[in-house]
Amino acid sequence: MTKCQIPCYKTMDFSDTIIIGAGAAGLFTARQLSKAGQKVTILEARNRIGGRCYTFSGQDFTQPIELGAEFVHGELPLTLKLLKEANIKYETVSGKNYQGKNGEIKQSEFFMEHWDNFEKALKEVKTDQSLDGFLQQNFHGEKYAGLRRSIIQFAKGYDTADPECVSLFSLRDEWLGGHEEETQYRIAGGYIQLMDFMASQIKSFGSEIVLGSIVKQVNWHEGFVEVVTTSNAVFIGTKLVVTVPLGVLNCSPSLEGAIQFVPDLPEQRKAAADMGFGAIIKILIEFSEPFWEEKGLENLQFLFSEEKIPTWWAQTPQRNNVLTGWLGGSPKDEIQHQNDDEILIDCVLSLASIFNLDASFIRQKMVSAKVYNWTTDPFTRGSYSYATLQTQSALKVLKKPISKTIYFAGETLFDGEQLGTVEAALISGLETANEILDFRK
Ligand SMILES: Cc1cc2nc3c(=O)[nH]c(=O)nc-3n(C[C@H](O)[C@H](O)[C@H](O)COP(=O)(O)OP(=O)(O)OC[C@H]3O[C@@H](n4cnc5c(N)ncnc54)[C@H](O)[C@@H]3O)c2cc1C
Repeated sequence: MTKCQIPCYKTMDFSDTIIIGAGAAGLFTARQLSKAGQKVTILEARNRIGGRCYTFSGQDFTQPIELGAEFVHGELPLTLKLLKEANIKYETVSGKNYQGKNGEIKQSEFFMEHWDNFEKALKEVKTDQSLDGFLQQNFHGEKYAGLRRSIIQFAKGYDTADPECVSLFSLRDEWLGGHEEETQYRIAGGYIQLMDFMASQIKSFGSEIVLGSIVKQVNWHEGFVEVVTTSNAVFIGTKLVVTVPLGVLNCSPSLEGAIQFVPDLPEQRKAAADMGFGAIIKILIEFSEPFWEEKGLENLQFLFSEEKIPTWWAQTPQRNNVLTGWLGGSPKDEIQHQNDDEILIDCVLSLASIFNLDASFIRQKMVSAKVYNWTTDPFTRGSYSYATLQTQSALKVLKKPISKTIYFAGETLFDGEQLGTVEAALISGLETANEILDFRK
């Protein structure tokens, strides 16, 4: 096909591999392929790289804040190796956890009534099932109402998992896998440092990242892809790697960010629809002073509560005036669709209640606030993946290259415990690049 045959298109560029999405997975795939001599083009919808790694500087915040990924959850080999290679410092997260209830804040020891029974039953389960089904079968009735509420709140809040769909085995591996003792890290200067490092390598190897390029259509046949953006720019190549989040893969074709494949990929579409993707709103607030320290919480790490915005944390060991609020759940939850102003009001009321302070006091102390709703963001449409009962079979479909031409990558495509993390995205990027370069043969 030559340029003159498609006169309505603005530009045409040729690449060995085209990658949709400049998040951790897209950048890592591109870095590996470029390093091996390929000409790669990354098309990124937003005007920034990083995807769900979004270190924000601005407004009245006195330091960069993480609106997306923030922690390195343990000794994660690829993330730590990349940080070392890039000579980026990271520090151990420290501090103590607290529980706020009825205006009283106590250091939180892990305690859940009937947890021992729950753990025993969980260890004995032989076939996978949903969390909801398991609770209803084994822990029904008034006696276990508190246990059910706490377990469901944890699965929804932290894993952003729907209790009716989430795989019990995946939760068992996570909850009983002994990970709670693992050291967590924060990256100095934020995850953007790591993204910038990969982007500069990609460019130095002669590949390119085209920002503001919302892909809407992929026309393809074996050994050929033609990728069209919403501004009708066209990019052609021999292979395509799709790293868009599951929320985008599954969205209705009429919505911004949706990608149409011609010919269609019905098997892959069905597989993507069988996987789990939650909802998340993250809120960052900087105050004029760390008022929680006056309540004796100088070493605050996490603060859990039953308020509307239930989970909060400070930046310990760094002492600054920033608190982060976290509202995980399901896209079905009404609160996930509230506007930013409503969420901020809920934040003020939640903090006032937890600290037994006047809402006006909290408001007065606020210097800057940013609410980031990842579920209403058209280029994420949710939080991160969780395993459903169909995830294993769906992965088999999505991980298989289509005619050695189209590859799916990203945190969703990771088959292991770190599903939903930056590590998962990086590993998926590495695996995809190896597959393309045929390293295994
Ligand atoms: C609030 C929040 C907190 C998190 N906290 C942590 C944490 O502490 N630690 C951790 O390890 N992980 C965390 N995660 C998860 C982690 O951020 C992700 O697993 C990881 O960043 C995913 O990388 P990815 O490359 O797979 O996807 P993404 O980073 O989402 O990249 C996909 C890219 O595709 C682009 N795109 C979408 N549609 C189109 C289109 N039509 N055309 C072109 N481009 C498109 C997007 O703009 C995006 O840049 C968090 C996630 C969220 C949302």
